[in-house]
Amino acid sequence: MKQKLFVLSMDAMVGEDIEYLKTRPNFSRLMAHCARVAKAQTIYPSVTYPAHVSMITGCTANHHGIYNNTHFRTSKGYPAWHLYSDEIKVEDLFAAAKRAGCTTASVYWPVTGKNPNIDYLIDEFFFYEPEESASEAAILDCFRKLGASEDALLTVSDNMDRFPRSYKTKSDWLRLDQTFDHFINGVVCSMIRRFQPDVLVAHNCLLDSMRHKNGVFNDRVTWALDITDYWLGEIIQAMTDAGVLEDTNFVIVSDHGQMNFSRRVKPNVLFEKKGWIDVDADGKISDWKVYGQSNGMSFAVYVKDPALKQTVYDYLRILRDEQVWGFSEVYTREEVSQRYGWDGPFDFVLETDGYTTFSEDWLKEYIAGIDLSDYRLGRATHGYQPEKGPQPVFVATGPAFKKDVTIPFCLTLDESPTFAHILGQSMPQADGRVLTELLV
Ligand SMILES: [Zn+2]
Repeated sequence: MKQKLFVLSMDAMVGEDIEYLKTRPNFSRLMAHCARVAKAQTIYPSVTYPAHVSMITGCTANHHGIYNNTHFRTSKGYPAWHLYSDEIKVEDLFAAAKRAGCTTASVYWPVTGKNPNIDYLIDEFFFYEPEESASEAAILDCFRKLGASEDALLTVSDNMDRFPRSYKTKSDWLRLDQTFDHFINGVVCSMIRRFQPDVLVAHNCLLDSMRHKNGVFNDRVTWALDITDYWLGEIIQAMTDAGVLEDTNFVIVSDHGQMNFSRRVKPNVLFEKKGWIDVDADGKISDWKVYGQSNGMSFAVYVKDPALKQTVYDYLRILRDEQVWGFSEVYTREEVSQRYGWDGPFDFVLETDGYTTFSEDWLKEYIAGIDLSDYRLGRATHGYQPEKGPQPVFVATGPAFKKDVTIPFCLTLDESPTFAHILGQSMPQADGRVLTELLV
């Protein structure tokens, strides 16, 4: 049998979590002799969608084209996530896997909608509108529109008992039936049992959710790690049942860490005060000259009229120097592109002072409290410069990996080239490198 590849992205998992997981039964057995990277540094902005596209393409955001989580807009509503893979401008791991003659599968990996190189695809989708999840047929139809084949949909039907019932909670606690993550793990296990795909990637958000709601390290995050270990047990059992465990390269990665914050601020309130945002009687934006989009602990500022750009830059730098507005850096688009490979149609980026997160809201007051209904605005978040805070993970075991080896550092950009190398392929467009130190 040829080697298989399974990549599990545990959103917002950090190196400290691995030390705890080593004490848990399934992780400690699975990863007893692992190949590990102590710190796997992510991209800027350190947010889920651009970071996952970097992990699956090996490219920074300026090359792959997904420079934020959601489509730009100046109205309120559910997050308009980037869903479809045709927004990505470079080749991904799935294309490399297809060149290698592999069957491919993906469960809740961001920006995979309608990816032509994924045989069994369940794209990440959160069912905000009640009618989307009103029945099993409606749920299947949503995934079908995102590119799921009829075969792939069988794995959804297998797990309808795990589909979340009440996931729009504002509480700081989550039960398993309030998350998509328990469902996701069930779908992963069904994919393995039904199809034994050569390459399977999956994305699970429980740790990220619990950190947003409660802070980076606490007993509720520890609970999420215990559940993670339980899920690993389910996956190990599915691989054992399918007869593929010994031949699988099993890799656990993550997209970013998180940092605690103590307040959130609304730069768009300042832009409204300056006359750069027009708000109508209903509180909606009727027109704008300057508007910012939040990435959690960074904030991308868009200036519509180029003639206003220098004025905005001067203003933002005055605020920065006053040291009370929540940001300690004002970067130009050119600066973040050169330094971090982050580029987009924005003009400036505000970087957190270390204890402030950014809201997109344009209605006063400038400083606001904790908001558990918005994933960016709880008690901890990310989006800041990638060298800050607890760092993402890379832990691997399987026939392609050395045993009992740890290297100090890699970039998450190195992951896809390494995975492609295991499949006998290269990724010529990737900015990252093959982590040969970890491979046999
Ligand atoms: Zn994430």
